[in-house]
Amino acid sequence: MDHMTVSGDFVAQDYIHLALAIEQHIPGYIDAYYGPPAWRQQAQEAAPQPVANLLKQATDLADAVAADAGMDPQRRDHLAKEVRAMQTALRILDGEELTFVEEVEGLYDITPEWMDEAVFEEAHRTLEDLLPPGDSIQERMIAHRKTTEIAAERAVPLLHEIVTELRRRTQARFPLPAGESFEIQLVKDQPWAAYNWYLGGLYSRVDVNTDLPMHVTDLVYLMAHEGYPGHHTELSIKDARLVQELGYLEFSIAILYAPASFLSEGIATRAQEMILSDDEWVSWHANEILARAGLEHIDAAREHALIEASKHLEAVGGNVAFLLRDRGVSEEEAVAYTQRYALSSEEEARHFMGFLSDRFSCSYIFNYYFGGKMLDALFAARGDREHWFTRLLAEPVTPSQLQVWTAQT
Ligand SMILES: [Zn+2]
Repeated sequence: MDHMTVSGDFVAQDYIHLALAIEQHIPGYIDAYYGPPAWRQQAQEAAPQPVANLLKQATDLADAVAADAGMDPQRRDHLAKEVRAMQTALRILDGEELTFVEEVEGLYDITPEWMDEAVFEEAHRTLEDLLPPGDSIQERMIAHRKTTEIAAERAVPLLHEIVTELRRRTQARFPLPAGESFEIQLVKDQPWAAYNWYLGGLYSRVDVNTDLPMHVTDLVYLMAHEGYPGHHTELSIKDARLVQELGYLEFSIAILYAPASFLSEGIATRAQEMILSDDEWVSWHANEILARAGLEHIDAAREHALIEASKHLEAVGGNVAFLLRDRGVSEEEAVAYTQRYALSSEEEARHFMGFLSDRFSCSYIFNYYFGGKMLDALFAARGDREHWFTRLLAEPVTPSQLQVWTAQT
């Protein structure tokens, strides 16, 4: 019997070809691709197509998605928003002057917000009570962070032990497909701290960047974010369920500068707390992790309180993006702002500019803090975090869809 072409097949193919063609103009545009290898090879071997042609193809694709009445509504909404992100990226490439807010709305299906510095100052006051005495709050934070540093070679065996436990906990709660796995690799000279590269076949490689010192108290968060139940878990489940089971071919490609990334970072920033309570975090560090790192003098409960108090400081990055792109401040001023409010060292603040100075990755920063916040709002409104987190891991979801779910109380 001939293979039946079902609704969505042709648009999914066009979508992949267009994304691969855009990648020829924007390095790093594709976060993961595990569709037919020949398609990517063809795109790479051909001369880059003119942006005007690609814009026309994107418009046709948007029309085709809208006209495909047979498609599952969530699948269609996801495709429509991803295509809108492609159109936005192409308009930027074409030299059109979008406002920063228009850019973020078009790429990520969210409206970015400036965070009042009073929120950061409030967090600083809580930190004042927790940190050992010293001069300024910045100096006290930097001095304290030094005490939790761990050499990369010493961290690697610990990372493997942490992954084993996080995987066990993830398997108990979420539909992790059989046979998935990932490896860890240390790398250098990257703008990020860690990156999960999903390579297809339920397999990922997690790169951990050693440009900046690693901290023993960040290791569990890092492995939950990249691995279990964060990025690797999401991409494995979507591969098994959406691509292999339902034939939604568009999920065999992940575009970095698009709404799916907002959801992915939301999932990843809340991954640790989905499988580990605050008390479990503290006792695991107190009884095992700190001792294995040779840092048993560290007070795990106080470290946890410091991490909690620092949470709102993650929104500093969004403000810095506004400052650089919307308010035209210099990189020097942006470094000073980052140091002052995020309490980072100058080295960390300068490293962060590497991420924000890229034309496309700058607006990506909103996906972290606001992605997590949007999940918090859903859980607060609807309860049963595990149920909703599973749906986010396994279904096509857009930020707009998530807000509709949150509002349906
Ligand atoms: Zn991430």
